[in-house]
Amino acid sequence: MRILKYCFLSVIFISTSLFAQEPTSTKPQGHTDQNKFRQMKDLLATPNETRTASGAPGYKYTQQQVDYVMDIRLDENTSQIFGDEKITYHNNSKDHLQYLWIQLDQNMRAKDSKTPDVKEESFKTPFNSAQSFTKNNLQESFDGGFNIEHVKNDNGSDLSYTINQTMMRINLAKPLAPGDTFKFEIKWWYNVNNHVTQGGRSGYEAFPDGNNTYVIAQFFPRLCVYNNVEGWQNMQFWGRSEFALEFGNYDVKLTVPADHKMEATGELQNPKDVLTKEQIKRFELAKKSFKDPVFIVTQEEAEQAEKQRTTKLKTWHFKADKVRDFAFATSRKFLWDAMAVDINGRSVMAISLYSKEGNPLWEEHSTRVVANTLEEYSKLTFDYPYSKAVSVHAEMGMEYPMICFNYGRPNEDGTYSERLKRGMIGVITHEVGHNFFPMIVNSDERQWTWMDEGLNSFVETLAELDYDPNYITGNLPKDIVAYMGGDQSNISPIMSQGDYVHQFGPNAYTKPSAALYLLRQTIMGPELFDYAFRTYSQRWMFKHPTPADFFRSMEDASAMDLDWFWRGWFYTTDYTDIGVKDVKQYYLTDKPTESAKERAKRFKMDLADYPGRFIYYAEAVDGVIPQDAKSATDFAELNTYLESLSPEEKAKLKEAPKHFYEVTFEKPGGLVMPIILEITYEDGTVERKKYPAEIWRYNEFEVKKVFKTNKAITSFVIDPDLETADVDTTNNAWPKDDATAFSKFKEKVKG
Ligand SMILES: [Zn+2]
Repeated sequence: MRILKYCFLSVIFISTSLFAQEPTSTKPQGHTDQNKFRQMKDLLATPNETRTASGAPGYKYTQQQVDYVMDIRLDENTSQIFGDEKITYHNNSKDHLQYLWIQLDQNMRAKDSKTPDVKEESFKTPFNSAQSFTKNNLQESFDGGFNIEHVKNDNGSDLSYTINQTMMRINLAKPLAPGDTFKFEIKWWYNVNNHVTQGGRSGYEAFPDGNNTYVIAQFFPRLCVYNNVEGWQNMQFWGRSEFALEFGNYDVKLTVPADHKMEATGELQNPKDVLTKEQIKRFELAKKSFKDPVFIVTQEEAEQAEKQRTTKLKTWHFKADKVRDFAFATSRKFLWDAMAVDINGRSVMAISLYSKEGNPLWEEHSTRVVANTLEEYSKLTFDYPYSKAVSVHAEMGMEYPMICFNYGRPNEDGTYSERLKRGMIGVITHEVGHNFFPMIVNSDERQWTWMDEGLNSFVETLAELDYDPNYITGNLPKDIVAYMGGDQSNISPIMSQGDYVHQFGPNAYTKPSAALYLLRQTIMGPELFDYAFRTYSQRWMFKHPTPADFFRSMEDASAMDLDWFWRGWFYTTDYTDIGVKDVKQYYLTDKPTESAKERAKRFKMDLADYPGRFIYYAEAVDGVIPQDAKSATDFAELNTYLESLSPEEKAKLKEAPKHFYEVTFEKPGGLVMPIILEITYEDGTVERKKYPAEIWRYNEFEVKKVFKTNKAITSFVIDPDLETADVDTTNNAWPKDDATAFSKFKEKVKG
């Protein structure tokens, strides 16, 4: 280096030691060192041949397959469903299975269900309407549990089984060996619940015209997941935490009144038996309509249909491969429309089924929102692999493969609020989006609600903003501030099982969604994030990922150490709070300052022996720069040094700074996060700086930064766009008493 030519060695030693920055220690007394950047080895399972350290499935990864052949009959008069179900269970694992576990979700509504027993009751609402009083005090409790008529093997002999609430164990005579299949059948029926008056994710809605719309799901005994992380996933269904299901092939025949219109998971096998020639023709038109939906059944036709009632029956036959579940919707009341969506050169159908009560909102938005959702999600994950996605109007929000049930009902006169319209667009985007998480990227919903709800709410947010850039999503970092900064006794980490958390919505939906949004926008940037997120999605398409597979994939594909982020946001209830604690101004002087003398004393050195040698930084008292402050050009030795440089070296030099600031950032919040800083200069220009979260690695409470500028700085504002979910913004601006900077910021906070 050329600098050696000029300086003598001892001064180099002195100057580096004298003026080097040393980490300051401001750690509160009694604080144990919980390094926020320590790796997650203690939290994640050790990688192995089934799940690799990169987050991808390993070469020994296996999963079970379960195929169903079902004959289902709906009795509209009694609202009962009857099923003959043939199951083929493929044991692809390397384990011998002594028994099989089956989910009986409807038993949550059985007479002896324990679900109501664990619900707290009180007279917190000390009054009832006549309707609620009747429901609460006069009505017999509804018996909606499964009636299992028989469980037989494929020779027709009875199998031994045990039912524990919502779970049924089939006791095998001899263990099922690896690679073997087991065939058996279950015959069952149950009373369908009214999902409007009795609640639920499946059931019927009764209309004053005497007709019902049926949205039927979780309606047949379904195999539990067996895998290398849970064994059998047979945690009870309490009504909240959703389902863990295996992939398989479905062949389902559904017999319903002949005047019903139906949609279900899978492809219709017998359109000629169940559709009119006209309807088939309209479907063909819809397949070519990429801009607007085409009516298969118009409102006029639907209104005509609901005035009559046939006693005849029709059987609809659907087949679906590689799905994890099956659901259907059926009613004579339904209008039906469809349009095509271009997914990377392949046509997929976007379809809606709704009663006239959903109009005019539904014919305007439902199918278009389905189409937009498939397009947007495909961009961020993988090309939607199924042939269709259906949105059914049902005053709830619930998802199944290729079909989902959504709310959004206008007033009787057809008017509706913007809020209702927004809610409907939101729920359709969300539920159709669930086709990706967890219907295809098939995480364990019973155990980890956030893996489908959080990831889905995040992609939903991006899709909604694409449908309408002014959409108010409610899933952004600023939307989670009140929750994260609230009463800690009511908050659980995201990494919690859903049945056991307070504030389920913020816990499993908003917070993970906001976390991923800020991970994309603020921490990783869309380019790195999107590649990694797509990598995770494609690695685990049609497989069962765990949280570790997600965390690892996001790091593996981006070269970012995000352990601090997962640890803070997913495993703790810490929140973000970063502020400007102090701003000191400095000026240049040739007189040794007290702190310089102090520092020199340590090296047994008297700065008076080196007149003119050093340039001292002196702190401005109350921000006032004294008259005799120097500028860089006043220092003879500096000038001589600069003169000695070659023309090329000189050309590379910057103009000497005139203003010097030392800013102390404080972090009262437990989360480490990047510092996003907006600096405003005296001439009104504004500059942004972003310091990575690692700025807190040596001291997570306080950190200093120096700003050397030619223009005076008039304000510092932290997180000006509210990207980091900072729970207390009163410490975000300097100067605190600067009315303009701070009130401008406060306005933004309110917005
Ligand atoms: Zn959801």
